[in-house]
Amino acid sequence: MEVFKPIDIQPEKEQINQTLAAEKVKCLIIGSGPAGYTAAIYAARANLNPVLYTGMQEGGQLTTTTEVENYPGYPEGITGPVMMEDFKKQAQRFGTDIRFGLATDVDFTGKTRRVLIDGNKLIDAEVIIIATGATARYLGLEAETKYAGMGVSACATCDGFFYKQKDVAVVGGGDTAAEEATYLAGLCKKVYLIVRRDVLRASKAMQERVMNTPNIEILWEHQAVDLFGEKGVEGAVLVKKKGTPQEEIVKIKIDGFFLAIGHTPNSDAFKKFLDTDEVGYIKTIPGTTKTNVPGVFAAGDVQDRHYRQAVTAAGSGCMAAIDAERYLSELPN
Ligand code: FAD
Ligand code: NAP
Repeated sequence: MEVFKPIDIQPEKEQINQTLAAEKVKCLIIGSGPAGYTAAIYAARANLNPVLYTGMQEGGQLTTTTEVENYPGYPEGITGPVMMEDFKKQAQRFGTDIRFGLATDVDFTGKTRRVLIDGNKLIDAEVIIIATGATARYLGLEAETKYAGMGVSACATCDGFFYKQKDVAVVGGGDTAAEEATYLAGLCKKVYLIVRRDVLRASKAMQERVMNTPNIEILWEHQAVDLFGEKGVEGAVLVKKKGTPQEEIVKIKIDGFFLAIGHTPNSDAFKKFLDTDEVGYIKTIPGTTKTNVPGVFAAGDVQDRHYRQAVTAAGSGCMAAIDAERYLSELPN
C-alpha cells in the first residue's frame, strides 16, 4: 500500500492572487457529473450547505450519450441528459447552490482551501470535493465528431450492447483496448483490433486473452484515418504500414468504432498541490476519497483509472460527502 503524507502548509508552492475578497463556504463541490451531484445530495442532507460549480459540461460525460441502460433504478433505460437532469433536481431539492463556473486554480497552503473560479472569483472552503471527471482521448478525425452517438464510442461497457451480433472495431493496443475488444467479442460477431504498431502495449495476460478469442482479428500496423456511412458508421478507412514503401489503404465494414487510446483526467488545476499518478489521476487513500491534502477529497473518474462508470462515480461521490462530513466533525473547535 502506498504511504500518503498529509500536508497542510506548503509555503514553497505558488499562491493565487490574494487581493480578491474571498467568499467563505463550508463545502465546495467541483464538477456536475454523477460524482459531483451525488456528493451534493449527501452533503446537503448532512447540512454542509454545498456550493457546486458545474464546469463547462453541466451534467458531465453522460450528457454526450443517448441511452444509459446499466444505471440501476431505470429498468427501461434513460437518456444521459435526462438522467443527469434528475441528478441535478435531487441535489437542488436538498438546497445545493448550483453555479456555472470553472475552477481555474487552487491554493491549498492555508487551513481553508482556496479555489479560483473563472480566474476572477475566490472561494475559501472548509472542505472541497473534486469531481471533475476524465475525458476520453480521440484520434482527432472529423468523422469522429460527425458520427458521435451514431457508431463512434469511447466506452464499450456503455455502448457495446447496441452492437450485438454486428461487426465493430476497437482502436488501441493497451490494456483498455484489449479489455474492450474481449468484452465486445462476447457480444459482437467480429471485432477488429486496430493497432498502430506491431506489438501490443497490453499486459501479457490481456494479450493472451485477445489472441485466444477467435472472433478478434488484430490489424497490426494499421491506423484509422476516416469513417464512412449514410446514417451511421458503416465502415472505416485504414492505412496499413503508414510511411513505408508497403503503405496501403484498407477498408473494413463495421457498425461500431470504439476508441480505447486512453483517458485524460481533468486534474490540471489541482496538480500543484495534489498527488497524481503518471497519467494525472488524483491519488486517494485506498478505500477512501481522501487526497494527500486534509479536507480535500476526490470522487469519480478523476481518481478512478479502472472502472469509470456512472454508478461507481456516484458511489464515490457519496463516499466523498461522508468523508468530508466526518473530517469536519473531527476538527477541534
Ligand atoms: P463527469 O461525468 O466527467 O463530470 C465531470 C464534471 O466536472 C463535468 O460537469 C465538468 O463540467 C466538470 N469539470 C471538469 N473540470 C472542471 C473544472 N476545472 N471546474 C469545474 N468543473 C469542472 N457510464 C455508465 O455507467 N453507463 C453508460 O451507459 C455510460 N455511457 C457513456 C457514454 C459516453 C459517450 C461517455 C463519454 C461515457 C459514458 N459512461 C457511462 C461513463 C460515465 O459517463 C462516467 O463514468 C461518469 O460520467 C463519470 O462521472 P464523474 O462525475 O466522475 O465525471
Ligand atoms: P495506455 O496504456 O496508455 O494505452 C494506450 C494505447 O493506445 C497504446 O497502445 C497506444 O499505442 C494507443 N494509442 C495512443 N494514441 C493513439 C493514436 N493516436 N492512434 C492509435 N493508437 C493510439 O492506455 P490504457 O490502455 O487506457 O491503459 C491506461 C492504464 O490503465 C494502463 O496503466 C493500463 O495498464 C491500465 N489498465 C489496466 C487494466 C487491467 O489491469 N485490467 C485495464 C485497463 C487499463 P502505443 O502502444 O503505440 O503507444
